[in-house]
Amino acid sequence: MRAAVFHAAGDIRVEDVDRPAGPAAGQVLVAPLWCGICGTDLHEYAQGPIVIPTTPHPLTAACGAQILGHEFSATVIETGAGVTNVVAGQRVSIMPLLSCGECYFCRRGLNHLCRVMAAVGLSYQSGGIAELAIVPAANVFALPDGVSDLQGAVVEPGAVAAYGVDTAGVRPGDTVLITGAGPIGALASLYAASLGAKVFVSEMNPVRAALVRGFDIGTVLDPGAIDVPAYLRDATDGIGVDAVIECSGNERALQAAIASVRSAGRISQTGLHTKPASIDPMVLSEHDITLSGTWCFPVTDWPRIIDLIERGRYPVEKIVTAQIAMADVVERGFETLLSPVGDQVKVLVSAASL
Ligand SMILES: [Zn+2]
Ligand SMILES: [Zn+2]
Repeated sequence: MRAAVFHAAGDIRVEDVDRPAGPAAGQVLVAPLWCGICGTDLHEYAQGPIVIPTTPHPLTAACGAQILGHEFSATVIETGAGVTNVVAGQRVSIMPLLSCGECYFCRRGLNHLCRVMAAVGLSYQSGGIAELAIVPAANVFALPDGVSDLQGAVVEPGAVAAYGVDTAGVRPGDTVLITGAGPIGALASLYAASLGAKVFVSEMNPVRAALVRGFDIGTVLDPGAIDVPAYLRDATDGIGVDAVIECSGNERALQAAIASVRSAGRISQTGLHTKPASIDPMVLSEHDITLSGTWCFPVTDWPRIIDLIERGRYPVEKIVTAQIAMADVVERGFETLLSPVGDQVKVLVSAASL
């Protein structure tokens, strides 16, 4: 079968690999439909292996060449013994996190913080940019007719963004700043708006700003042109916003978040910083500000996100800016997304020949 395989930084090949064996008991064989390329994949391509294991992974034994893709929808081809949650022919969305079920965090339902966590498409035998994949049945969630193949591939980043907004305790009527309108920031703006929040988004990149402006769910600000904290104080009678979802992983944005949030407000650090950032913690103290991080998503969130999509409350498909064939994944996917003049936000890859 054909698959997009990571070999080393700058070396992703679409090549023939062995068809996965199975499905064994408790496993499902699926044919991926659409698979998103994510920031983690881009980091692996640019500087990896980072998450991709170079020694056998303690949970999955995965090591070396890795089939990429962890944001995907698929059709069930065959189910292994004992699988009862899906049947052959059903369309599904894959929850990619794999956890041990036995460690301190797994025993407390915090499987996304498992001490030996692995992920489909990063540290596992299968990935979503392939003609076939094997996944545990517990990671497979049926899609109702009202959710498209494309939407099913955006459940994963949709869950990341929702967790960021939920962690900030956003309620209807709150004013919320979202810093950065990459895929997660753009999704966070859709989710916060669906909760009934008054949304502000700060984004310097004109392509990304235009995408979010097109959602028509709030005000898009250019932090290169205006003083965002001052603007937001003006817009809130000098109080500041109730919550900030920091989705850029950028020091200046985090500083703007702290300067923009009201006293007793909440900041959710959802974007990933790749280096230390300097902040003034005294401001957190003086103003009773809560600054909390989020990692991935609760692994139980798939049915809830799928239901929000089905009911039209969370139109995750709006962040998709290109759909390409697997054969083009390097040139039209990875290279375009990493290009400083690139104009893509979320690229989905099809395993079928387009
Ligand atoms: Zn991802
Ligand atoms: Zn665990």
